[in-house]
Amino acid sequence: MASVLVVEDNIVNMKLAVLLLHNADHSALCFADAETALTWARTERPDLILMDFQLPGMDGLTATTRLKNDPATADIPVILITAVEMKADLEMIMAAGCDAYIAKPLRYQELYAVIDTLLAKRQWQAGDGESDRTVTKVPLEAGQRGGAAVDVSVLEGLIGNDPVVILEFLVAFQTSAAAIAQELKAACADHQTVLAGRLAHKLKSAAYAVGALALGQMCATMSTAGREGSTEMLAKLLPLFEQELDAVNTFLDAVLARGTTA
Ligand code: MN
Repeated sequence: MASVLVVEDNIVNMKLAVLLLHNADHSALCFADAETALTWARTERPDLILMDFQLPGMDGLTATTRLKNDPATADIPVILITAVEMKADLEMIMAAGCDAYIAKPLRYQELYAVIDTLLAKRQWQAGDGESDRTVTKVPLEAGQRGGAAVDVSVLEGLIGNDPVVILEFLVAFQTSAAAIAQELKAACADHQTVLAGRLAHKLKSAAYAVGALALGQMCATMSTAGREGSTEMLAKLLPLFEQELDAVNTFLDAVLARGTTA
């Protein structure tokens, strides 16, 4: 449960964001312009900020820069919501100090995964007293993921709670994930960064769909690393990815053995 400040000028997008946040037990407060939102953030200090890129007046990137330069708000994670994949502008997004970005339309699995990661990271930093703010998403270390490897309610929310359908879906996921993981490993070994990025991207949405949120986040990070041609980052991420996939498989094996998600 976190308090989330939503800065979004489109009423439909605003409502969608609030709905998704409420469904995950977060509280949400919305402003349609950045100026008002900044003033509010300074005094109320929300746990997290969802920032639309295109806003009337000050845009989302400028607003984020201001938040990050203000000691009162610098440590509040900001997720930038962009209308399109702003691959070309990733540097700009990072330079502004955004902690993550998500492309519209908001997909709840991705939103929840990013929020969970940022909140866990912030908590971990607060406990550690460190202020190391790496803008590229820091991979989840083993044990940093709170709770189970798979949130089955996510899966049930997506395809209904018919146990037969869910179990079939899980088997299909495991088979496909194993194949992709093998190709991903080979691509990393061959330094084929673009291919590795594409494979990670392919697995990402499937992982989010079955509720393997940490795995999905890991895939998103690997996808970015591949796209950026970072062999070194991929090499660092691969063992973490494999470890997380193992945890997911262990969890799913247990579900399949029981024959029910209950
Ligand atoms: Mn907008």
